[in-house]
Amino acid sequence: MDKATEIIESIKNVTLGGGATPPEPKSAESKPRGEKKTKKAAAKAPVDATPLELNPVPEYIPHRIQLFEKLKSEYDADVSSKPREEITVTLPDGSIVAGKSWETTPAFIARQISKSLFEKTVIAKVDSNLWDLERPLEGSCRLELLDFENQEGKRVFWHSSAHVLGEATERRFGCHLCLGPPTEDGFFYEMGLAENQVVTASDYKPLETIAQKAIKEKQPFERLVVTKENLLEMFKHNKFKQVLIGSKVPDGTSTTVYRCGPLIDLCLGPHVPNTGRIKAFQILKNSSSYFLGDAKNESLQRIYGISFPDKKQLEEHKKLLEEAAKRDHRKIGKEQELFFFHELSPGSCFFLPHGTRIYNTLVEFLRAEYWKRGYEEVITPNMYNSKLWETSGHWQNYQENMFTFEVEKDKFGLKPMNCPGHCLLFGHRERSYRELPWRVADFGVIHRNEFSGALTGLTRVRRFQQDDTHIFCTEEQVKQEIHGLFDFLKHVYGVFGFTFKLKLSTRPDKYVGEIETWNRAEAQLQSALEEFTAAGGGQWEMNPGDGAFYGPKIDITISDALRREHQCATIQLDFQLPQRFKLEYNTGEVIKTKEGEADEEVSHYKRPVMIHRAILGSVERFIAILTEHFGGKWPFWLSPRQVLVIPVMAAANDYVLELQTMFREKLMHVDIDIGPNTMAKKIRTGQLQQYNFIFVVGAQERETRTVNIRNRDDPNTQTKGELIPVQEALEKLCKLRDERRAISGI
Ligand SMILES: [Zn+2]
Ligand SMILES: [Zn+2]
Repeated sequence: MDKATEIIESIKNVTLGGGATPPEPKSAESKPRGEKKTKKAAAKAPVDATPLELNPVPEYIPHRIQLFEKLKSEYDADVSSKPREEITVTLPDGSIVAGKSWETTPAFIARQISKSLFEKTVIAKVDSNLWDLERPLEGSCRLELLDFENQEGKRVFWHSSAHVLGEATERRFGCHLCLGPPTEDGFFYEMGLAENQVVTASDYKPLETIAQKAIKEKQPFERLVVTKENLLEMFKHNKFKQVLIGSKVPDGTSTTVYRCGPLIDLCLGPHVPNTGRIKAFQILKNSSSYFLGDAKNESLQRIYGISFPDKKQLEEHKKLLEEAAKRDHRKIGKEQELFFFHELSPGSCFFLPHGTRIYNTLVEFLRAEYWKRGYEEVITPNMYNSKLWETSGHWQNYQENMFTFEVEKDKFGLKPMNCPGHCLLFGHRERSYRELPWRVADFGVIHRNEFSGALTGLTRVRRFQQDDTHIFCTEEQVKQEIHGLFDFLKHVYGVFGFTFKLKLSTRPDKYVGEIETWNRAEAQLQSALEEFTAAGGGQWEMNPGDGAFYGPKIDITISDALRREHQCATIQLDFQLPQRFKLEYNTGEVIKTKEGEADEEVSHYKRPVMIHRAILGSVERFIAILTEHFGGKWPFWLSPRQVLVIPVMAAANDYVLELQTMFREKLMHVDIDIGPNTMAKKIRTGQLQQYNFIFVVGAQERETRTVNIRNRDDPNTQTKGELIPVQEALEKLCKLRDERRAISGI
């Protein structure tokens, strides 16, 4: 039996008939086999059960495999004819291993070091390229072995798992696969199903069962380089792959396909050595999408999954997901009446009074820091004539993300960012070097035209505000400004209890500006990063070649209470916009030019460097992150419900009202409950609403001018509060708020 038939047989063998007819049986020949199975399985399976897998398999499976096997034997013959030369492989510790070109594999080297190292290794990195463990090395190189804990290793692991999911869906639905990438927290595969067919939650278990079979078989991921012509033939049944091959593979070139079991997929790789590396595999959710994300294209089904090299990790992950679901900002936003969305303005949030309190407190926090740190706040327009966007380049490169419209026969656009407006601000009059650095802050409203399908809660919106600042400075001032920004973000993130990591992205292949300017700027950023991290400011890493074409950048990733990572802050140097807007400052120097007989003195001008920077990023998205980070238990200074005052009996109501007035005068969010419910019920409700402090007052408190305080964050005070003189409580709470302390101890 050849390999292709063997695979197909093994698929048939696992098929459960269940009494149902597989959709669109294509071959009469396989029916007797199916019927036999049906009798056996009928006792167990419910009458209406859909078969676990298609029987017979879709015709594209044997078609692909036959062509693959033919090409693979030619390819293997070619590889075996390659010259075997002595090569040296340098490991990260500097040690050197000898090998042979086109023969020695990273897997071989890993196994030589130790079996456990090999088993733990997900993927190799050869020089700077990810490389399949079983793929022969082609020459002398540097070799790194990456495990699942490595970010790149994790992506390869999840990407490989997407193939297993793809295989399972092909076997179950006979669908046409589209794209199956890894994501931040797992992977998905999207596919075109037969008309009107959709994936439902009842498919999860069967798909997992098929995936488990593929995993148990330890199907190797086999790599093969295939010409465009052969690719079009191999994937002739799949219109999506036809489009991808047509648009991504230039004529006359080749790309790779990978096979695992019956699945052969167009893919650049790399992957784990075999499907057996996946020890835990679970499907999490499904949705629909459009081919290439474009609503004009065909509708697809998308299935999300997660996988791990260890079963325990899946259990931990599931707990984390449960906790995340409890903390979902959309859920808490509703429970605490913070915000909502309305279908009449998708992606633009309505902040309710309590949500607005949080929003304003955050903005005030930033404003207070701006005051200390020499920033100047400005207010700039929301809509601009398209001429501005042409100068900035947005009209040419970003227009589809903008809301544009006509005003008095001119094209206008709502701003998707503040930068071009700030360039007008800088260029408004002559600037002197004495004014630099000029730190221009703007909380302006920004609009971006996101697909309505991509909008999710506060994390992806169309209307938002940022704690946006542009710093205009001289080239020499860059390092000092970066230092200032590091100090700023360390302080802000510290207040919320976030840890953070920094990443420097440097000059890409395509760039604007002078190479010397880039080199000097990058050197300044790097030394600022080194000094900051050496002084205990966390970690930083280099991300070579990943800067924007207009300047190097530092991305800052914060880690929240569930150890999820979010990128909020960026520090982005820009050599381009100052040029496009012809911005310049007077350096204070004079240069002499020979004009006829007499020397003429003229002022000397230079272009400023523009630093784009935000710490919270989008205030909306930051509120989503904070809601989930705190799980709705807001720290006192940020809390929209700070104090609730409850009387022991109606006779204390006047004291309750007096307390409310006193605390309101100190700008505190204080509510009272003098309704008909019992005191116990009022306390319980206040606790559920996450009031930081509940004051319970009766005759004794009124006589002694005290309050009995229950502190949300101190379990000892929950049944019987602490008795504190009113004046003292007021002072302590003001201090707690003004110091923006995370822990509400008083
Ligand atoms: Zn792949
Ligand atoms: Zn900007």
